Amino acid sequence: MKLETLLVHSGGGLEPSSGAVSPSIHLSTTFEHTPEGEATRDHVYIRMGNPNQDRLEDALAAIEDGEKSLVYASGMAAVTGCVQVLAPGAHVLMHKDVYSVTRAISRELLPNWNIEVSDVDMTDLDAVRRAMRSDTELLWAETPSNPAMDVIDIGAVADIAHDAGAQLAVDNTFATPVVQRPLQHGADIAMHSMTKYLGGHSDVQGGALVFREDGDRVERARRVRTITGGVLSPFNAWLVLRGLRTLGCRMARHVANAEAIAVALAGHPGIEGIDYPGLPDHPGHAVASRQMDGYGGMLSLRIRGTREDALRVASRVRLIRNATSLGGVESLIEHRQSIEGPGSVTAPNLLRLSTGLEAAEDLIDDLVQALG
Ligand SMILES: *Cc1c(COP(=O)(O)O)cnc(C)c1O
Repeated sequence: MKLETLLVHSGGGLEPSSGAVSPSIHLSTTFEHTPEGEATRDHVYIRMGNPNQDRLEDALAAIEDGEKSLVYASGMAAVTGCVQVLAPGAHVLMHKDVYSVTRAISRELLPNWNIEVSDVDMTDLDAVRRAMRSDTELLWAETPSNPAMDVIDIGAVADIAHDAGAQLAVDNTFATPVVQRPLQHGADIAMHSMTKYLGGHSDVQGGALVFREDGDRVERARRVRTITGGVLSPFNAWLVLRGLRTLGCRMARHVANAEAIAVALAGHPGIEGIDYPGLPDHPGHAVASRQMDGYGGMLSLRIRGTREDALRVASRVRLIRNATSLGGVESLIEHRQSIEGPGSVTAPNLLRLSTGLEAAEDLIDDLVQALG
């Protein structure tokens, strides 16, 4: 089946008891079991699994072309769930530009668990090969990356990982499965902050891991989730599944708007550069053209001048809102270095833009007046 159809139907199916077309929300925390503790149907206790979580996990596995999926209370719970299956002493290789809180895990938590992390520029395949160690178990990529919009060749990095017996996980939040399906390029795990495009309306938090192959690693991750309890609530699972139903249509508009803005503002005297993989002069354009269907709805504007010049532009937008997060129906702008705080490696003149579903003309007019 085609992706557009999977987005509408996967994880669906009538509710057997009522024939309802839209799924019910099962809030029950507990499910009947035999006196010996065996489930009489599919579930026992909410932390271990629930009908709404099941539907969403089935849908995500189908959409990302994986065998299994696990959903979590947030994107960060999913990242944590992924690294918590590693044994002490393991080495993780991480792209140098990743979501700032993913970097915080690598700096603040993993060393306590005796897991060493090194950063590498994964757009440079030779650098990745050189950084591999005999104890490297996991490579963590994010493409396009947040917020530098680096594009990593998923297939090539997967080959390097597999040659060394390691696995590749890709944070696919920026692209979404509509634009990029990392498992089809050889990645072992695709990760999502469902708080962003998958939910799509800035009103639900969730995270997911999708695994190319079912097996021991999935079962270990499921066990970690059951123990640590970072599981998605039924209502949030229901909201994200509803979001998936329109993801195909929404992404088409997000991508078209981002492209229109990138083209309209390229060459504007107030802009030093635009980081958008759809622009032919982006260093990752060729790789992005191979591994993505469209170039996504996120772009970063490097404002000509200083941090203060960038903040001035951010303060002048009228329609576009200053707020963190991304992937909702409304356009958001953010001075990333300010929100990332101390230790940020983001350029001081960079404004990250999440293009919403408004008319492109209105967004371009707003940015042009803000640039002055
Ligand atoms: C937001 C985000 C996360 C974290 O997700 P939460 O749902 O906020 O926990 C991880 N990676 C990327 C790329 C993100 O944008």
